[in-house]
Parts: sequence; structure tokens; C-alpha cells
Amino acid sequence: MFKLSAIIDYMNQWTISSLLVKVVATCNLKCSYCFWFRDPVVKTQFSMMPTKVMNALMTRLDEHLRSNILESFHMIIHGGEPLLFGKKRMRDFLHQTQEICHKNKTRINFSLQTNGSLIDSEWCQIFREYSVSPGVSLDGPPKMNDQFRKDHHSRSTYEQTLGGIKTLQETGFSVPLLAVCNPNEDPEELVKHFVEELGINTFDILMPDFTHDEIEKIQSVAAFYVRLFDLWIDKYRSRGVRIRSLELMVGTLLGFLDRTNESIGYGPMQIVTVYTDGKLGATDSLGISNYQSKMKFGTILDQSIDSVKSCANYQRLVNESLTLSSKCMECEYALSCGGGMLAHRYSSKDQSYRHPSVYCNDLLAIFKHIQKRVERCLKWRIA
Ligand code: SF4
Repeated sequence: MFKLSAIIDYMNQWTISSLLVKVVATCNLKCSYCFWFRDPVVKTQFSMMPTKVMNALMTRLDEHLRSNILESFHMIIHGGEPLLFGKKRMRDFLHQTQEICHKNKTRINFSLQTNGSLIDSEWCQIFREYSVSPGVSLDGPPKMNDQFRKDHHSRSTYEQTLGGIKTLQETGFSVPLLAVCNPNEDPEELVKHFVEELGINTFDILMPDFTHDEIEKIQSVAAFYVRLFDLWIDKYRSRGVRIRSLELMVGTLLGFLDRTNESIGYGPMQIVTVYTDGKLGATDSLGISNYQSKMKFGTILDQSIDSVKSCANYQRLVNESLTLSSKCMECEYALSCGGGMLAHRYSSKDQSYRHPSVYCNDLLAIFKHIQKRVERCLKWRIA
């Protein structure tokens, strides 16, 4: 069923065309579900990327663009909270990256994920100057958001984040939001808040991060996503509202595979992360699998970006991401679902990702529901 050879060919020819860069390892908020701070290794890293590491990154990027012909390169700026990097350092980072890309005739796309609480008009000016696309994390109206997204004194963070969103909107940015699903809440209230009260038309709602080691903490999310899908199709999609996970689910059911997405669809793990200390590593969400030593691929201080591809740890993780459990191999949604997000497949019992997602039953129910509705829609259009 799987064209594994086609994927291996694809990986052999694959050129790294994006990096997720952790410019800061700390955060001014303390969201209780954050996967980043559940990884004990984070506490041992530099809190901020020092100049020496940033300079090494720039040298490696230049080298990478000279040896690979790339039309565009995507720099995803992350933290912790990336705005704690400070405006001067961030300008410097953006400026140097932009210069190197221009020199190598590569278009640069910057995106940045922030909690929004530190955004002011000067940040908006920087984003505008360097064409940075900011995304903001918010879980809904105050009663939803403040259940998990609190500051270090357990206080509400809603107003601070809202302030950042408003400032971005007032300076002409359309702001995609990223929320984490709380299955106890009403998706309609959440969507209404985003679309009608905040004027947001692009967002995503992610499943909370768990591995098989925490199975007893996991609540079913199926009813939430089924309701969300119906709301989107019946009421919001025609108004131009985009919900990324749902679009991807529909796309993969129709046979479109997006290999750059780490949560939906069958494909290899591709995200390469640069940590504050210059270490190269796997996608940061794998930190919850507490398997850090095996997720490092060297350091940009003395290795090229391309060297990642020949690193044994990297190859092992790509292999794990492509090797599904026997249940997934027999599943009718295997290509659409891909076994779920890699981190959600991990079990420390055998230290492997060869398990169905912790959300397997939910994913089955969600895909079944979407398939039924898409089929009904196609029949209606053909008739
Ligand atoms: S729905 Fe479950 S069995 Fe099917 S591919 Fe996804 S995780 Fe595997």
C-alpha cells in the first residue's frame, strides 16, 4: 500500500529548505501543557542564543545556500517566547539572514510563533520591515485561555495576548491563531470568539501533547473535532475561515499529501531545529518523549546544515516516522492519518514510535466523519 521506495527517493533528493530556530529557551508565561518545558533538557540550554551561535548559524546558512540551489528558504523563529530575544538582536538576526539569502538569490520567508504578550508597535514595524509572518497562541475567550495559559504567578494572560493581537491587526497584519483543544469546552464558543469577536479568519486547534506513557491523562477529542468540522463546513468555510488541521484532513482524504506537516498525513519527519546552544535536532515536540540524547544531530558550531542528513540519529528518526505499527498499516486511513503526530506515537516501554497515535480512536472517528461528509458533498455536486 505504501510507496516506501518513492519516499526514500524523495528523502535522498530532499534539500533542507527550512529551519526552526530557537532564539530563546525561556518564556514569560507558564502554560501548564507546554511541551517545551516538559523536556528537562531545556533547563540545561542557553536561555538565549549567544552571538557566537548566531554567527555560526549565519555562516552555515550561507554555505548551505551556496551549495544547494534553493528558490526560497523558510526560517521559523521559535522559543520559549522568541520576542524575549529583544528588538536589537532580532533585527540583527533578521537582517543577517536576509542579506545572506539576497546574496545567494534565495527568497527568504520568516514566520514567528509568539504568545503575543510583548508585541508593541515597534515589533510590528520590525515584522513589516522584514516581512515576518507572526502567529499568536491563544486558546479562546478568557475562561478557556486562562485555564492553562497562565503567567509565572498563575495569573490570567488573556488581556496581554489580546493586546498583542489588536496591535498587530491595527498595523495591518492578519493574525493566524494557534490554540490547544480543550475537549471539555464548546468548539462553537471558541470559533465564535476567534471569528466574530476578534476578526480572525485563519487558525488551528491542536490536540494536546501526550505519549503512551501518559495514557491515563488523555481525554477523547473526537466529539470536539467532529463538531468543529460541522461548524466549519456549515457556517464558517463559506465566509473564508480556514482551520489548518481540518483542511489537511480533507486534503489527505482526497489524496493530497503534505509532507511538511508533522501532525496529519503519512510522511517522513523533516523539521530540523537549531537550539539556542547551536545543537541541531529533531522537531521540538519530540521533547515530550524524553528521548533527547537520540534526537540531536550535531551542532552548527562545527557541522554543515546538510550533515544532518547523514547523521545516524536523524536517519533513525526518519525511519521511525515512516515505520507504522501493524494496526496503522492495516488502517483504511493510514495515508491520511500517517499514524498521528510522531510524539503521540511514542512509548518508553520499547523506546519507539512504532505505535498508533494516543488519539487513534479519535482520529478514526474524525476521519470517518469527514469522509462521510466529503462523500455526501461530492455526490451532491455530481448529481
Ligand atoms: S487512525 Fe489510528 S490506526 Fe489509523 S493510521 Fe491513524 S493512528 Fe493508525
